Amino acid sequence: MYIKIDLATCDGCKICYNVCPQDVFTWNEETKKPKVSYEEECWFCGICWMDCPERGIDITYPVSIS
Ligand code: SF4
Ligand code: SF4
Repeated sequence: MYIKIDLATCDGCKICYNVCPQDVFTWNEETKKPKVSYEEECWFCGICWMDCPERGIDITYPVSIS
């Protein structure tokens, strides 16, 4: 997984869900927390990481070795 949410840290503010330009996140109505559902659509723009007030998102950038 390239995008990880620390659900213990997440306070459910919904910012990541609202700002992601690629709709990588869906919203879990039961837990009131985001879920990484479409990771393959991620552009690695870093907006979710920057905007998360709890620093609850970790991004691992893919490495290509040639
Ligand atoms: S921006 Fe951070 S605190 Fe807010 S819902 Fe997303 S992961 Fe949780
Ligand atoms: S890095 Fe950008 S495209 Fe990827 S999940 Fe975060 S906001 Fe969405």
